[in-house]
Amino acid sequence: MINVAIDGPAGAGKSTIAKAAAKQLNYIYVDTGALYRTIAYNAVKKNVIDDTNAVIALLNDTKVELKYIDGVQAVFLNGEDVSAYIRTPEISMGASKVSAIPEVRAFLLSLQQEIAKENDVIMDGRDIATVVLPNADVKIFLFASPECRAERRYKELVEKGENVKYEDVLADVNQRDYQDSHREIAPLKPSEDSIMLDTSKLNLDESIQLVIKTIKENI
Ligand code: C5P
Repeated sequence: MINVAIDGPAGAGKSTIAKAAAKQLNYIYVDTGALYRTIAYNAVKKNVIDDTNAVIALLNDTKVELKYIDGVQAVFLNGEDVSAYIRTPEISMGASKVSAIPEVRAFLLSLQQEIAKENDVIMDGRDIATVVLPNADVKIFLFASPECRAERRYKELVEKGENVKYEDVLADVNQRDYQDSHREIAPLKPSEDSIMLDTSKLNLDESIQLVIKTIKENI
């Protein structure tokens, strides 16, 4: 099986780029952020997002599954498709919080590794190259400046009809970067053997082509 790891900060275009590259290469695209978002969604729903012990206790009654419907990933929480509920700013921030809990990371690890064992995948996350798939065939670290990333996320949210301010989105990007790179467990940082790709000055199509070219040159 061919395993490609794509890590990087929020808003670097990872998911859109990885999804498009996976489609062209005929691999499965695995969005691991959706798993952390699902844990956060459950915790928010149960009103325990700020209570680490309660979040951990909830894992005992939690089943998370990824399914692919016409090649599109859907994430299931205890049998319910929650894909449509996990993309709000509240859940983004919650995902960043729960992802700092070691028990949450351990809970999601085997699920991610199983999928990669059985399929050609492009897996997108924060710690794919460092923790989840240390033997991945290709490891890419995709990044862009915080302002570029905030601008892109802002446009995405506005297109979805969310009422947001650019300044708030930028503040969220900076806060999530800080939380993600300063946590003790699996902090966001490139592995030594990652290929660094900066998308700040590239449009979406250029970024996709660069990622595909990088994958093809390295498998
Ligand atoms: O990629 P996405 O923005 O959906 O991820 C949501 C949050 O989940 C991130 O801010 C990060 O804290 C966490 N995450 C993680 N490890 C991953 C994927 C996501 O810690 N592999």
